[in-house]
Amino acid sequence: MPSSDLQTTADIRAAMSDGATAVDICTAYLERIATQDGPIHAFTHVAGERALQDAAEIDADGRGRDPVLPLAGVPIAIKDNICTQGMPTTASSRILAGFVPPYDATVVERLRAAGAVIVGKTNCDEFAMGSTTEHSACEPTHNPWDLTRVPGGSSGGSAAAVAARLAPIALGSDTGGSIRQPAAFCGIVGLKPTYGRVSRYGLLAFASSLDQIGPFALTVSDAAVLLTVIAGHDAADATSSAEAVPAFGARLAEPVAHPTIGVPWHLLEHGVDAGVRAAFDAALDVLRSQGATIVDILLPHSVYAVPTYYVVAPAEASSNLSRYDGVRFGYRAPANGDRSDLGEMYNRTRSGGFGDEVKRRIMLGTYALSAGYYDAYYVKAQQVRTLIRRDYDAAFERVDAVAMPTTPTAAFALGERSEDPLQMYAGDVFTASANLTGLPALSVPGGHDASGLPVGLQLVGRAFDEANLLRLGASYERDAAWWRDRPPVHTTV
Ligand code: GLN
Repeated sequence: MPSSDLQTTADIRAAMSDGATAVDICTAYLERIATQDGPIHAFTHVAGERALQDAAEIDADGRGRDPVLPLAGVPIAIKDNICTQGMPTTASSRILAGFVPPYDATVVERLRAAGAVIVGKTNCDEFAMGSTTEHSACEPTHNPWDLTRVPGGSSGGSAAAVAARLAPIALGSDTGGSIRQPAAFCGIVGLKPTYGRVSRYGLLAFASSLDQIGPFALTVSDAAVLLTVIAGHDAADATSSAEAVPAFGARLAEPVAHPTIGVPWHLLEHGVDAGVRAAFDAALDVLRSQGATIVDILLPHSVYAVPTYYVVAPAEASSNLSRYDGVRFGYRAPANGDRSDLGEMYNRTRSGGFGDEVKRRIMLGTYALSAGYYDAYYVKAQQVRTLIRRDYDAAFERVDAVAMPTTPTAAFALGERSEDPLQMYAGDVFTASANLTGLPALSVPGGHDASGLPVGLQLVGRAFDEANLLRLGASYERDAAWWRDRPPVHTTV
């Protein structure tokens, strides 16, 4: 099989059973990254030699031919806020410049044990705060469909890498939409698992009650295989669930019989782009043609999802980010004047080490948690969060899944929203609820808008019911295989 035909993990495993080695596969992907990532800038670190060594080990111990290890020899890209032993992990922040973790995140440990080969770390908004990767301390990532546009964020590097076929699968993290939104903008599959499904040990914390690690892939099946490897209880994360992990890839071909799918039409009345709306309507037609019944549902409190999220997430961030003090790891501001003044060192390190968006969140969060405002903001937001979850619980008495567009618009131009945080935050309108409620949510490619940019179809499922959510996504994908459309190839050399 010519190297350019390698797209999915199934293609890779087929090539390996035809005689290709893990080293051959790894070499092919490193070559693509070397020649095609220049204009995209999905990667902040390419693992090169280390990846080839890991691949050689897999060839040597025969894991590449083990049928119970479907990811053995498969390259994967990892968002730069997930700890990788011996490889830089900076969350695209200056404050972690030069930080090389001494340990692997649990998800990375599980991937290595499964034989996946880490080819590099991908760009993101600093500490995953953003929707475009423009808040990265490095250069922003560009959308492979149109280099003048954002890839989405915060996991924009992982999404762009998979869309451009620079890695068949990738990991991201999703606190308010950071897997699903870039998946939609880049025309690929992204899943935020149920809160607790995947260990957060070794994920640099942004908002601990919202953060989840999850898969990016070209197909639902690949996302399911990747989820199966990373999911499951972990003694190192007290919030990880003991819920059994089924083989998510196993029953994807069995359609969910006559599913009822709820659409909260009242949330779609304003602000949804015409092209996104048209693609969504067409996606619902596909689901109907497969036997689904589409019903109107009400999620009355979801209109408050964005303001609720932007109290809870910064509040938790302000506490989580207090550990970056210039003492234990990463960047420390050079001494100036009175070296004995520890407060001054903290101040200068944090002022110079964090970017503007992170500082904005720390200030917002500190304010929301401060004495006198705590009840008015933080407690109120937690109450609204419960109401949002109750609306979903009520809806799930009638429906098997909730469908919405993933985002109100397709990818916008780089720079277009970077001066307007409120406009940027408003884009999280359809994604934030799944984090506030903890529910699993899948974005699958749902067609294109009038200018040919990808659009995402989002399906939200019952807690810990990723199996049915993925089956629904897989049946949609069977009749609407948008992932086969590829963005143009941009070569540098
Ligand atoms: N866009 C959201 C934010 O800026 C979501 C980020 C995320 O999911 N990590 O907070």
